[in-house]
Amino acid sequence: MTLTTTAIGGPALAQERRIVTAIPGPRSEALMARKNSAVASAVGTTMPVFAQAAGGGVVVDVDDNSFIDLGSGIAVTGVGNSAPRVVEAVQAQVAAFTHTCFMITPYDSYVEVAEKLNELTPGDHEKRSALFNSGAEAVENAIKVARSYTGKQAVVAFDHAYHGRTNLTMALTAKSMPYKSGFGPFASEIYRAPMSYPFRDGLSGPEAAKRAISMIEKQIGAANLAAIILEPIQGEGGFIVPAEGFLPSLVEWARANDVVFIADEVQTGFARTGDMFASEHEGIVPDIVVTAKGIAGGLPLSAITGRAEILDATHAGGLGGTYGGNPLACAAALAAIDTYVEDDLAAAARRIGSTIVDRFTAAQATDPRIGDIRGRGAMIAIEIVDPGTNEPDAALTGRVAKACHAEGVIVLTCGTYGNVIRFLPPLSISAELLTEGLDVVLTALENA
Ligand SMILES: *Cc1c(COP(=O)(O)O)cnc(C)c1O
Repeated sequence: MTLTTTAIGGPALAQERRIVTAIPGPRSEALMARKNSAVASAVGTTMPVFAQAAGGGVVVDVDDNSFIDLGSGIAVTGVGNSAPRVVEAVQAQVAAFTHTCFMITPYDSYVEVAEKLNELTPGDHEKRSALFNSGAEAVENAIKVARSYTGKQAVVAFDHAYHGRTNLTMALTAKSMPYKSGFGPFASEIYRAPMSYPFRDGLSGPEAAKRAISMIEKQIGAANLAAIILEPIQGEGGFIVPAEGFLPSLVEWARANDVVFIADEVQTGFARTGDMFASEHEGIVPDIVVTAKGIAGGLPLSAITGRAEILDATHAGGLGGTYGGNPLACAAALAAIDTYVEDDLAAAARRIGSTIVDRFTAAQATDPRIGDIRGRGAMIAIEIVDPGTNEPDAALTGRVAKACHAEGVIVLTCGTYGNVIRFLPPLSISAELLTEGLDVVLTALENA
């Protein structure tokens, strides 16, 4: 497959699963001991091993174990780790200049990233973009812009939402433990509406939208509402895909009521779901799209992109930051975005998705603990339940993930109830590695 040759990163890493020590090995164990005495304990790690190299579809640890990567560092390294075009672009930029601050002495790569985002995000209206460092920072700025433009304050987020860990984004995020507990008070004028969750609510998209809109109209009032923010497919909350019709109904209502519709595509963006942006699937055109994670091949960058009249409504100097749109991150983003487009990684995501869905659909026929298989493209999850009652089984989910880690496969869990295993492989993963990784997951599930 040409993908593996164009997108493999690192010093020609062998694309294989290889376990040569106990997991964790001695070097990782020693580093973990140092971590425990040097790093705040609240900063946890999913894997018990430390990385030394990564590329294509593998992460190699400091003991020379090679793991199949089904997580991409949480949907970040879509183009692969240390993808050659990204490495080359960053190396050239780091030698030219590392920072001027765009607000002091601007540079062209920032403008070019904005142009690309304006061109690639849904809708052919006039757009503007602004660049930041993290997903949470971009979400905050999307809310700032929506309030400034509408002159209104209230914001609606949804059940199971995840928008970040800063103060405003904690308020938008739904799950208390571990993201919010003990960290209040939270920002005011944030309201939570019911999400469409077909596996658990059985509602059609229009029915679920009607429920949410009724709550919004009765409890907040459109006259007070600046923005609705929503992940087109929820990430951290459990890869919940709203029923068909839910998103278009909300967008239509927002447009009719002078409410800014913000799509948080931080996890779903950049070919991940089989389209460049998940909003495209049902043809919705958000007023603002928030991007981060997959945008720059692993360098910290985020963006808001939206209608020119909305983004240009904020007073001069109202948006910015010291590092936002750092030149290294912009160079990486231009290389990564070219890779997504030129290598048609959206098609790669669709192939990856059908492989994963096929495997679990076959397994589900004899294993009712796989309650739901959902997602799109290379963003697929299984929800693990008690077969009799559909009650979430977080303990089993945790055991399966741990068994995968010990067998050389990086998988992540998620979900409000902690019972979802999510698959976010790099789009550069080979078909063989993906199949082997899924074999390991299915065996771990059988044995758990
Ligand atoms: C990860 C994520 C964020 C926060 O991004 P950070 O870069 O971690 O601040 C926001 N929204 C969604 C949907 C995410 O997945």
